[in-house]
Amino acid sequence: MANERILLVLSNPEVRQIAEDQTLSPEGYQVSVATSCEEAERMAANTRPDIMVIGDQLEDGDHLELAAKILEQRPTMPVIVYSHLGTRTVPLEVVRLGVIDWLSPPLRSDRLLASVQRGLKRRKHWQDWLDIEARRQTGPLLQRLDELEALAQVGQSVTAHLDIDRVLKNALEAAVSLTGAEEGSILLYDEDTSDLYMRAALNFQDEFVSTFRLETEDSLAGEVFHSGEPKVINEQTPQKIKTAYLVHSLIYVPLKAHGESIGVLGVDNRESGRGFEDRHVTLLSAIADYAAIAIENANLYSHTEVERSKLERILRQIQDGVIVLDASGQPTLINRAARKALELGEADFSNWHYSRVFTHEGLIDVIEGKNEDPYRVELELAGGRTYNANVTEIPDIGRVVTLHDITYLKELDRVKSDFVTAVSHDLRSPLTAILGYVELITRAGEVNQQQSMFIDRVQTSVKNITDLINDLLDLGRIEVGLDENIERVPLASIIGYSMDGIKHLADQKGQDLSVNASGEVPAVVGNPIQLRQMLDNILGNAVKYTPNGGTITLRTGQEDGQVYLQIVDTGPGIPQESQARIFDKFYRANNVPEEIQGTGLGLAIVQSIVENHRGRIWVDSKVGEGSTFTVVLPVTE
Ligand code: ADP
Repeated sequence: MANERILLVLSNPEVRQIAEDQTLSPEGYQVSVATSCEEAERMAANTRPDIMVIGDQLEDGDHLELAAKILEQRPTMPVIVYSHLGTRTVPLEVVRLGVIDWLSPPLRSDRLLASVQRGLKRRKHWQDWLDIEARRQTGPLLQRLDELEALAQVGQSVTAHLDIDRVLKNALEAAVSLTGAEEGSILLYDEDTSDLYMRAALNFQDEFVSTFRLETEDSLAGEVFHSGEPKVINEQTPQKIKTAYLVHSLIYVPLKAHGESIGVLGVDNRESGRGFEDRHVTLLSAIADYAAIAIENANLYSHTEVERSKLERILRQIQDGVIVLDASGQPTLINRAARKALELGEADFSNWHYSRVFTHEGLIDVIEGKNEDPYRVELELAGGRTYNANVTEIPDIGRVVTLHDITYLKELDRVKSDFVTAVSHDLRSPLTAILGYVELITRAGEVNQQQSMFIDRVQTSVKNITDLINDLLDLGRIEVGLDENIERVPLASIIGYSMDGIKHLADQKGQDLSVNASGEVPAVVGNPIQLRQMLDNILGNAVKYTPNGGTITLRTGQEDGQVYLQIVDTGPGIPQESQARIFDKFYRANNVPEEIQGTGLGLAIVQSIVENHRGRIWVDSKVGEGSTFTVVLPVTE
């Protein structure tokens, strides 16, 4: 049963009744009705009828104008006119308008039905013709679209997969299907043998693929490889590519990476005589570009992989311990040496947080940057071995901890200290004897002025050596750590004794020596002798290096559970580059006047004492203005 949509534009109710109720609706058509031009236009746009019947005598416009307007918008829709106009004029106008039929009153059902059926038939013809025509026009476009889609897929597979075999297979499948070829192959250049081998193939026999080799001289593929230009064969008689490899038609396009030929992509027909077109060459060239990128990527990847595994082997085998932690604190590498040093065995620690992997507090502290030196710490590890642990932050990777075994250095240091202590000790007695006897010389009888000067020099030199020996012995003792003599030490009295002890020297140089204490000076836990020596050394330096008439102030106070001592002088200052080194043994800055004697050990002793008391020391100084030594010690609860 017909269910096409029919729009009737009829003003006369009786005519409407005949058309709709008596004729079209009973035939199963979907009928809608408009009574004016305006309504007709709106409904034509909304209901998109398959056919329209337009009657005359419409109140708001001319029916033929309406028909013309509708046909302009939808030229393939059949329009039938029902009009009272004379039979002569109307058919001519009807023909000009493109209206398909004209009915004149009185309206007869059979004529209307026949006219509608004819109109619908005509409409179907038009529609079918349009479809065929559209397909004819869009066919090549659709084919191009398919080709583009296939190319895009090859492109996608290049970026989506690292598996080179899979990518090349995809590329060959696209090449064969887009060109309608029987088989396809990718030939790559082998630098060692200077010929082409089959890296990937589609529809070739496996054995043929594995044994295939083509010389680049004197072969079609070689010509394409060398010239970088595509080649097409379309022949009726099969052409020889290689013994027993005859083809009717073939395309070879070069594979190029960075402008250099690396191989050839080919498709061919051995059985059918079907030829190839120019557009196939274009398509194949595009696929070849993708294939070349894939091969290049794979080469780069395998090169990176080789380098990476080389690096990993080096890191694993290296004598120093290496631990790599990712940004979340999980180890991505703990090499053999680190496992041995930290006694970690062979366990797999991936997905473990470092705080679970390592038990050594010092190591965890340095990883977390909690140490005084946030990047370095000495660790006493298994078997009495000492390691220097360094932590390095590496952006985008995490943290790397290296463990360097410094046990031999520690041992050397100990042997050296023992030796120095022993020698110093043994030297002290003869030196005391020398000093004693030199003193006796003057008592034993008259000495002349020159002899007296020599005796003075001997005494000064012996005193210098004795100072050095005393410093060395002190240092040796202090470096061992805090001895048993630990007590609650009221710092105020230490300061008092030290100031008293140095006062006469400051007076001799006309210096202003004073203490400036803010609040009560607290007590610390420690060794009173060492603390006194620390203060003596810093104050001694201040007096020694500050010129006559200068000022030396000792400031002290308490802050955040710590006590600080600041010795401020108006001396020569310490050059910037020397400030980090003045606490080293035997180091003396180059701006000290030659006549000011010293061993270069005083501040090394001070630093050891401060460390023994879990304190900190630093210097702020400007050449020509003076120096400020600051010592901070924890206050006793
Ligand atoms: P020294 O026996 O030479 O005084 P120290 O270890 O006590 O050895 O001091 C190391 C060096 O630090 C000194 O040689 C000097 O260059 C510098 N120094 C120490 N204190 C002062 C100071 N108050 N003013 C200027 N330089 C100083």
